[in-house]
Amino acid sequence: NRTVAIVGRPNVGKSRLFNRLARKRISIVHDQPGITRDVISAEVEDGHYTLLDTGGLGYKGEDTPARLTAASEAQVDFAMATAALILFVVDGLSGVSALDEKIAAMLRRSRKKVRLVVNKADFDDEKIQLDDIYRLGLGEPLRVSAEHGRGEADLRDAILAELGPAPGDDSDEAEAERPLGVCFIGRPNVGKSSLSNRLLQSDRLIVSDVPGTTRDAIELPFQFKGRNGKLYPFRLIDTAGIKAATKLASPVEYFSRLRSLDAIKNTDVVFLVLDAMEGVTQQDKAIAGEAIKEKKPIVIVVNKWDLVHKEFRKGDGVRGYKTEREYREKYEAALFDRLFFTPGAPVVFVSAMSGYEVDRMLNAAVKLNRMLDAKLPTAKLNRTIERLADQNPPPAIGGKRFRVYYATQTGTRPFRIKLFCNREEKLTEQYRRYLEAGLVEEFGLNGCPMYFDLVGKE
Ligand code: GDP
Repeated sequence: NRTVAIVGRPNVGKSRLFNRLARKRISIVHDQPGITRDVISAEVEDGHYTLLDTGGLGYKGEDTPARLTAASEAQVDFAMATAALILFVVDGLSGVSALDEKIAAMLRRSRKKVRLVVNKADFDDEKIQLDDIYRLGLGEPLRVSAEHGRGEADLRDAILAELGPAPGDDSDEAEAERPLGVCFIGRPNVGKSSLSNRLLQSDRLIVSDVPGTTRDAIELPFQFKGRNGKLYPFRLIDTAGIKAATKLASPVEYFSRLRSLDAIKNTDVVFLVLDAMEGVTQQDKAIAGEAIKEKKPIVIVVNKWDLVHKEFRKGDGVRGYKTEREYREKYEAALFDRLFFTPGAPVVFVSAMSGYEVDRMLNAAVKLNRMLDAKLPTAKLNRTIERLADQNPPPAIGGKRFRVYYATQTGTRPFRIKLFCNREEKLTEQYRRYLEAGLVEEFGLNGCPMYFDLVGKE
């Protein structure tokens, strides 16, 4: 987490300080259904950290002293929940107030890093009541003038020092070294073992039919030469005993086997295998659900394409379709119709038997895997959610609409987005999917599922 939040009572100059550090002017966005910019964020120092101004949070109606206090507390709460570092701004001219003391007490109790910033320090130093400021118990204050820029360089340095070095930019190398974990899931006889064997180019996966064969997941390493000629290490995760189990067709056996596919948990990308000659079945749907539940990115692999090809070569068409291409398009449309896939999941049509398009299948996995490490810049994330809410406001439920105050990415593999909102229960499943699809599209993350962690603030 590299988020820095500015807090402080009204009129101490938080917005000015924000603008100075962000090197831009704030655009004020007014209250609108769905989403507002109660919290303003900016990427600072070339994206080294995200700066938040919480100063707009919690203002509703008249500014009575009680409301101002409540708003300030809401801002500090919010900052403590999101930020790695909090800049607490006090006014060097007007001195320490009761509200400042209250905020300081909240911050002292939190286990967050806090830097005290004395603003408006561009006047004679004697006028600044440092004793009171030290008494806030938050250490050495940094003196700045947000208006005139005094102390700015020191403040920038102090923030960077508090945050520590950014995680290394060696992700390319890390990617090259860490093998990409994949597994095949699908109903019996769709060709999972055949595809595995094709990848490993051996019969290593054929295991004995002896009952009691261990079902622990095993990992089989292999390498794949990508389109760019680069070698990508993979690990194929499989469950020993998988063959034995397919021979036992009772439902109990089948589902226990499905469960033994906790191989899914250890993979980066899941290959969901379907049979090209058969449509999508209820069983396919149940199996796909396992991967979706785990929020794993899925490559949809339609296997045995050679059989379809052969049928078309005979000239009679297949199931009323005249061309291979038409069949393929209809197959793909039906797929997305019948399965609730992550928006934009890639589909490949392959043949384990001939090896047709197996490379494309692996390339799709490499591409998905690379996306999984994407960092979603906070400002763009918030702008996108705002735009999505503008274009399609959330439905009002019991007179209240779902509203996002602020969104931030908290994890990758899978993507985790924390949504600070008014009430988490107001987010419908349909609207959640809409937000997910919108973000996936905006950030070009086709096929990568997202988790939303909701934090209600009302
Ligand atoms: P699994 O139960 O999903 O592991 O399926 P298998 O790999 O055991 O394959 C089931 C049957 O389908 C076997 O008879 C395979 O030879 C056949 N099969 C698998 N892939 C293909 C393919 O691409 N084309 C054709 N024609 N047959 C395939």
